[in-house]
Amino acid sequence: MAKKYILSFDGACEPQNPGGIATCGHIIVVDGQLQHSDKKVVGEGAGMTNNVAEYAGLIEGLTSVNQMMEQGDKLEVRSDSQLVIRQMTGAYRVKSARIRPLHGIATRLIRELRKKQIQVKLKWVSREDNKEADALTHEAFVEYCQKMRYEYHPCGCGGTLVPRTNKQTGHKFLGCSRFPRCRNTTSFPANESVPS
Ligand SMILES: [Zn+2]
Repeated sequence: MAKKYILSFDGACEPQNPGGIATCGHIIVVDGQLQHSDKKVVGEGAGMTNNVAEYAGLIEGLTSVNQMMEQGDKLEVRSDSQLVIRQMTGAYRVKSARIRPLHGIATRLIRELRKKQIQVKLKWVSREDNKEADALTHEAFVEYCQKMRYEYHPCGCGGTLVPRTNKQTGHKFLGCSRFPRCRNTTSFPANESVPS
């Protein structure tokens, strides 16, 4: 019998975008049951952006479902990135030279699914409805920081507290990487140097 697949993916570049640590994650739910989940580190530093991470999540997820799905199955791809969804549906053009090849790979993977008579739908969802993929993305980031022995300060919102400077006073503090979505701040740790 034909099955209904839901692929939810996410990606983020933390603690700064661009140029931070790009990670992504995805989950695959089949007929209402969690079937598969995965996360990975895309890269660190030059060339890393939120969008690169989002596309990496999409490509990983589509590669997974491609191995699992059969003729006649239905796929709904969910993302909280309106940009990625609109680029993938063709509503927005892809202007970034960095994104174009990634968009090409994702488009090819969807074409392969459709060739197998699999119906593919792309859907924008709220961050609230993409919590699992977001959590996996953040987990990959935290694990990488631990592995690399990076100092980091998790914020309660799932973001990261990063060094900031008040432009008026020169005062240093830690502020959430998800500002302005999260306005959490804390005092700068005295024993820590400012990362460049
Ligand atoms: Zn926060």
